[in-house]
Amino acid sequence: MVIQLTPYITQEQLQTIEETLLQHGWKSMPVRTQYQQYLVGIGKKDIDLRHLAQLPGIADVFRVTDSFKLVSRKWRIQETCIDLGDDVRIGAGHFAIMAGPCSIESEQQVADTLAHLKAHGVRIMRGGVYKPRSSPYSFRGLGIEGLKMWHAQAQAHGIKIITEVMMPAQIEAMYPYVDIFQVGARNAQNFNLLDALGQVDKPVLLKRGVSGTIEELLQSAEYIFSGGNERILLCERGIRTYESAYRNCFDINAIAILKARTHLPVIADPSHGVGLRAYVPQIALAATIAGTDGVLVEVHHCPEKAYSDGQQSLHFKEAALLYEQLSAVQACRQQLARMT
Ligand code: PEP
Ligand code: MN
Repeated sequence: MVIQLTPYITQEQLQTIEETLLQHGWKSMPVRTQYQQYLVGIGKKDIDLRHLAQLPGIADVFRVTDSFKLVSRKWRIQETCIDLGDDVRIGAGHFAIMAGPCSIESEQQVADTLAHLKAHGVRIMRGGVYKPRSSPYSFRGLGIEGLKMWHAQAQAHGIKIITEVMMPAQIEAMYPYVDIFQVGARNAQNFNLLDALGQVDKPVLLKRGVSGTIEELLQSAEYIFSGGNERILLCERGIRTYESAYRNCFDINAIAILKARTHLPVIADPSHGVGLRAYVPQIALAATIAGTDGVLVEVHHCPEKAYSDGQQSLHFKEAALLYEQLSAVQACRQQLARMT
């Protein structure tokens, strides 16, 4: 169950609630986020919620039978909106495009990408400065100096930054230069990293693991929320299957199911999802029809020369067309919603 506590709850009141739960066979864990205080109740025994709700210090009580609680839509029906400031919002009806290269490579590349994004009204730029690579001999990113260089340029254009963090020790140095911390597929169950991001008051985009289930993704998100950070976005980026005709199997089902099971915004990454440039726009559009709150897409001024993931990066022209198509599909989605 999720118990919302009142803002000025006293220590004694909290203790009484915890003891009452324990008497009924329920364990509980207090959670304090940047917005509110909660008590997450874990148990199965019968308990009278109306009686519990009357205890001083409790604002509301919700029964949540999912294995994940705070990120469940069972208690928070309204969708969460992630507000990055400067009129950039994601979720609860706000659709976001996050576009940019797989890796940040040079000042010129950043300048070219920012000019492209600016020309098309895209407000969030993606890019990696710490790159998880299968081979240790591949390009592994420009690191913190690359991030500082990127941030200086992006700020001048009013464009927000989403970039991957790979370990807790990187968070502090990255913090001033990041608008959204990305947790990559390989770190989706790095619980130490998730715990550490729970302590951070900046949004986190959490990708689904390479072979992670939807339930596991939601449980990983629960780590961040219960650690103290409510500002989470979930990202479907494809899973590994026996199919070898493409890089990953983009799970369109996951978009619809996540939207139903959580109040958090759901983002689609069609680039890693299919891994082949020719199909990226179709998958992005399909995900939008399925209900995604935004897309994370790789674009490059010259994909043939990209340091990583060039094969799935869109040329600027292709990306520009996709942005327009995404707007058209959103209009279509609204029309579909009116019919249901
Ligand atoms: C990326 O976004 O460039 C990336 C490495 O993604 P993923 O973790 O989904 O492989
Ligand atoms: Mn990539």
